Amino acid sequence: MMSLDVVCSKCGSVIYTMRMLKSIKDALRATNNRCPVCGAALNPADFSVTASKL
Ligand SMILES: [Zn+2]
Repeated sequence: MMSLDVVCSKCGSVIYTMRMLKSIKDALRATNNRCPVCGAALNPADFSVTASKL
């Protein structure tokens, strides 16, 4: 099983963890295109996604 952490490139916080492969846009929609930690409005290019095996 894999999980994907979506990381805010502004503050480095993990703002969303995907348990299944979804598009980054779906992940952003869940957070209103904002980082809930630092409040930055972000677009998909501003995020990095790191995959880790559980
Ligand atoms: Zn942030």
